[in-house]
Amino acid sequence: MKYISTRGQSPALSFEDVVLTGLAPDGGLYVPESLPKFSADEIASWAGLSYQDLALKIITPFVGGDIPDGDLKKIIDDSYATFHHGAIAPLVQTAQNEWILELFQGPTLAFKDFALQFLGNLLDYILKKRDQKVVVMGATSGDTGSAAIEGCCHCDNIDIFILHPHKRVSDVQRRQMTTVLTNNVHNIALEGNFDDCQNMVKASFGDQGFLPEDRQLVAVNSINWARIMAQIVYYFYAGLALGAPHRPIAFSVPTGNFGDIFAGYLASKMGLPVEQLIVATNANDILHRCISENDHSKKDLIHSLSPSMDIMVSSNFERLLFDLYDRDGAAIGQLIEDFKSGSMPLNDAALDKMRGLFSSYRLDDDAMIEVIRTVFDETGYLLDPHTAIGVEAARKVRKRQDIPMVCLATASPAKFPEAAQKAGQSEDPALPASMADLFEREERYTVQGNDLGSIQKFVADNVRG
Ligand SMILES: *Cc1c(COP(=O)(O)O)cnc(C)c1O
Repeated sequence: MKYISTRGQSPALSFEDVVLTGLAPDGGLYVPESLPKFSADEIASWAGLSYQDLALKIITPFVGGDIPDGDLKKIIDDSYATFHHGAIAPLVQTAQNEWILELFQGPTLAFKDFALQFLGNLLDYILKKRDQKVVVMGATSGDTGSAAIEGCCHCDNIDIFILHPHKRVSDVQRRQMTTVLTNNVHNIALEGNFDDCQNMVKASFGDQGFLPEDRQLVAVNSINWARIMAQIVYYFYAGLALGAPHRPIAFSVPTGNFGDIFAGYLASKMGLPVEQLIVATNANDILHRCISENDHSKKDLIHSLSPSMDIMVSSNFERLLFDLYDRDGAAIGQLIEDFKSGSMPLNDAALDKMRGLFSSYRLDDDAMIEVIRTVFDETGYLLDPHTAIGVEAARKVRKRQDIPMVCLATASPAKFPEAAQKAGQSEDPALPASMADLFEREERYTVQGNDLGSIQKFVADNVRG
């Protein structure tokens, strides 16, 4: 399997090379040259497989022989052995034909563990095989950082540097990152906001001259193809559990960077009968405006109670656009150029195609709090703020009541006690036993000014020889 850029101007890469990179040199994102397709019979034959065995079926064609089957199986088994629930991605029913897919049973309590536990083990394997060392540099508004650190902290060939906006992540989120004390992990609290963090990382990928000669940067945000690929699995897993491929299924996905829901789109292209994909956004609603009224224009970022979706420009949306524009890299380059001046209207053909599968909905903080309260009163089930937005979106815009609607639960409510309190919970939702002493653990991080030179010096000084 080869991987090509959405801008069409970069050489194709192998699977292993695409895992070890970030953006393509032409500024695009890598996507597989073609998608594996599974017949209904083949999908039906996977009913009852464990999560890990299903993952092996789905991931193997993407790896395209770069990694022997036995080794890939071990990478997958190790990646999900750290989860707290035997089903890995359990389903919980909350209403007639409405299900919550709990994607927060991994070590850091957010769905990002699905991709980042896997990516950490995959990088470890590839780097050992090549006898190569790399530097991971990433920005986080909260969940990516801890999941990436948890995924990479055991990899001897990786030094990882995670930037978070100083004082703007929750205490649980910060402590999940800063209490990992292995000597290849470095947390930088940047005196700035999330965009500042991301700009530091982008600038560093663009010019890697500050690194020691034998090192390169690897991306752990969802521009990394391996993350998207790992997430395709749970769409099939939920679908199979609820009757696919013999009956269709719908998903509602709390969306920020469009990574998670893009994996759902790929699952449908690969043969899963997906009736509807709902893009659920908070007040940062560029994707909702784009889908509902073809208004893909920038607005100021709003800080919400669902911070992992406080994103203005969704990088993975470009991967969908590439398909909507019949994989015409030049057209994508032009669209992105248009967007730099503020807005990016799509053409009618692209809009029609998108609306055939995608619907969207937007919810602000006050309405989201009401959803947490209502669902708790109805069922005793406590939603986290991101998931609550997805549940309400599903209830508002689902097309069919007679097929299962799966609402992806992207984080545990324990990560966001503020929202739970506002929704009337008298006690903070409990952290799992493995994290019960989180607030007693020693923390280690450095506070740095918003200055590229000093950040890069800190990275260069702390890369191990
Ligand atoms: C990252 C994240 C999201 C958004 O996921 P995308 O793949 O960026 O769309 C939603 N909810 C939570 C809890 C997250 O951590």
